[in-house]
Amino acid sequence: MPTLAELEREVARCTRCRLAQGRTQAVFARGDPTSGLMVIGEGPGAEEDRQGLPFVGRSGQLLDRLVAEEMGLDRGQIYVTNIVRCRPPGNRDPSDDEVAACTPYLEAMLELVEPAVIVTLGNFASRFMLGTTEGVTRLRGREYPCRGAALVPTFHPSAALRGGGGEILAAMRADFVRAKRCLLAADRYPGGPGAGPAARSAAR
Ligand code: SF4
Repeated sequence: MPTLAELEREVARCTRCRLAQGRTQAVFARGDPTSGLMVIGEGPGAEEDRQGLPFVGRSGQLLDRLVAEEMGLDRGQIYVTNIVRCRPPGNRDPSDDEVAACTPYLEAMLELVEPAVIVTLGNFASRFMLGTTEGVTRLRGREYPCRGAALVPTFHPSAALRGGGGEILAAMRADFVRAKRCLLAADRYPGGPGAGPAARSAAR
């Protein structure tokens, strides 16, 4: 199993799918890989492609605000990535073959990071991680066991930015409160006794 740094170097030069052709750079992840919380979106947008970091545009600012206000964590205390690591042209959904090419990286990251809680943002990430065709509107409101973690599906921040009469934002707030509860229950809330890497390896 490669390290995260080795994986990131591999992703930077990856040409496994056609998304390599249109990218400025691959977008690996941001935040703290020892965090108990992993947030998974769909794919990089224009700003993410430019900066090489996920969720740094308006959606990312809203994500960081909700995590701060509902979970009491700052942006450096969570780990954020996407289903695909290169920007789909025109922000279209990634195709099945692109997802198939890129998700081995996500699988490896999940194994290395060992999150206690996974928050999926939007239909695409929620459906992929849960292996379902249900939409996030029906999926959200509860947590699911997934790869040794509790998975909490919620809306993509862009859905809240597009409107929704505040209902989407309220639902997202409730989902992040749920994610905090799951993190506390797993004893992985930052500052808690089971949170740090030393405590985690001691517990193995
Ligand atoms: S999207 Fe993933 S599989 Fe496709 S080129 Fe980028 S890193 Fe490689």
